[in-house]
Amino acid sequence: MRWNVLAVLGWVVAGSVVTAQTGAQTAASAKSTAEPAVDPVEVLVSRLELEKYKATIKGLTQFGDRRQGTDRNRAAIDWIEAQLKSYGCANTERIRYNLEPPPPRPPAAQAPNPVIASGEVRTGVGGSRYRGITRSTGVNTDPQAQPDAKLRALNSQASVPGLREEVYCTKIGTTHPEEMYIVGAHMDGHGWGEAANDNGSGTALVMELARIFSNPAVQTERSIRFVLWNNEETGLNGARAYVEQRAALQGRESPAGSGKYPEPRWLGMIQHDMMMWDHGMPRADGTFNPEQRPEADVNIEFQSTAKMSDQAMKLAFFFRDANEKYATDYPAAVGQHMTNTDSTPFMDLVPAISLRENERGMHTGAGWNPTWHQPTDVYATFSDKDFRLGLNAAQTTLAGVAQLAGVKIK
Ligand SMILES: [Zn+2]
Repeated sequence: MRWNVLAVLGWVVAGSVVTAQTGAQTAASAKSTAEPAVDPVEVLVSRLELEKYKATIKGLTQFGDRRQGTDRNRAAIDWIEAQLKSYGCANTERIRYNLEPPPPRPPAAQAPNPVIASGEVRTGVGGSRYRGITRSTGVNTDPQAQPDAKLRALNSQASVPGLREEVYCTKIGTTHPEEMYIVGAHMDGHGWGEAANDNGSGTALVMELARIFSNPAVQTERSIRFVLWNNEETGLNGARAYVEQRAALQGRESPAGSGKYPEPRWLGMIQHDMMMWDHGMPRADGTFNPEQRPEADVNIEFQSTAKMSDQAMKLAFFFRDANEKYATDYPAAVGQHMTNTDSTPFMDLVPAISLRENERGMHTGAGWNPTWHQPTDVYATFSDKDFRLGLNAAQTTLAGVAQLAGVKIK
């Protein structure tokens, strides 16, 4: 089943039929007329490079686990903002909110991820089912579990309640600046590692897309906002603050007559959280395949209980098609149990999907990623096969959003 851009825009942009000149259509018409045409989507996807993606993740790991409410978290936000500006995504802005009272302490890690079930089906988060061999999960709160003394010291400052910030920047649409797609990832982490996978991998993906779309020769008809959420790990507080503060501002021109829209109308929200590790189910003895499994894929999820679930489902399949056409190594799969991520506060208001290395419920929740919130979530843990899965997710989102926003290269 294929979802063409016009159909998806028709569903996603309520009430208006849009004549988007898209890469997909250009490519399709080029085939029938035998006239060589450059597909701008393909050109942009080719600008994603494994080494640049890795370097951006490495840059984020200099701030340790980037736990919210600490100096290392604030330094990471400053660094991300400086990078966005250096890409030419110059109009960076910040959301400010308070986190009071302090969030509850995360549950202590259970003794080293025991195998807790085999062969029985259990219900899990988001409407999922856990099957086969599963392991317990938790957040490491023991500094001594981090063997690297330097990293242990870097992560030692405790979180303090109070003011929180998060940064975003926006590519302004040429013909529809009043409408936008939101491309997001959370930049905070915890667990006494480097939050390389959770969620340096998603944060770097969003930053790489901001870099490529901010090239002045790249034009989009609609706007695209790149947001790096804070406080995902304490309960989606940063994304919730954004929705609370800005939902009512959508589509308003300000000042009147200026052609400026501080909060363009939301057309879709695409979230990225944990992009690199798909090594498969734990083994019966509790160990894992040390390599990326050959069947690794990008998991695109929507939530079937959301008010916008039908539109989100179509958006999810549109992104799967974008993956089939443009991703170089790994396929994508669609599931209906999106949960525990920053797209949740958006899902009743706008079509919202998330991209991950695994399904959040039946894979991640069942203990498929032994680095999750652990001291082992450091850059050195991951191989190029892991980084490449994240890059393929970036190719998928870049290709999907480029088509939906109507991209051209001057
Ligand atoms: Zn995460």
